Amino acid sequence: MIKAENIKDENGFLAKFQTRLIRATRLTHLYDQGHDLAVVSAWAGHKHFATTSLHYTKVSTELIEKEAGHIQKALFNADGKPLYYESLPKSFWDNPTAHKLDLPLDHINTPIYGYCGLPLDQRCDKFRACYTCACFVATNEKLPTYKKVRDELREKESNALNNGHDVLVEQFGKQAQQLDKIIEGLEGTA
Ligand code: SF4
Repeated sequence: MIKAENIKDENGFLAKFQTRLIRATRLTHLYDQGHDLAVVSAWAGHKHFATTSLHYTKVSTELIEKEAGHIQKALFNADGKPLYYESLPKSFWDNPTAHKLDLPLDHINTPIYGYCGLPLDQRCDKFRACYTCACFVATNEKLPTYKKVRDELREKESNALNNGHDVLVEQFGKQAQQLDKIIEGLEGTA
């Protein structure tokens, strides 16, 4: 093929065949044939999925983007820092809906919208404290909602302050503070 296609190296000579030249193509084919990314990654001897998906499975990365683009556009953690898709559990890639948080307001709790980045086989021990949780995943489509919830929390914080409810002041203030960071992070991508 090198001869037929007259493929040259950087010095202008006919290229010499080396197996590493087809490594990236092979990994991409394996993934596109339906092999799990974990299997492809192990086959390649990579320590991290990110190496496989970012450098060796170009087509597959595009496929992932196409399939999960709506949530991949901008993911942030509760500190407003960007979250890399590859850092999330594999079940998040396969089935983001299973990680979705869509918990409307009730008379006690703050409404929660976004995703939970905790692996599905692990138990959450602080449910409903999502905006202050390291596993929380914020998404840009909920930006207007985050602003509304933050404003409501500030109002509740102020009422609690007026009524001398110190615990609630701290609780509402903390959540509002985290939402400020999330909003700042998301607006930075707009
Ligand atoms: S508190 Fe954290 S671990 Fe629990 S559901 Fe919310 S984001 Fe997930």
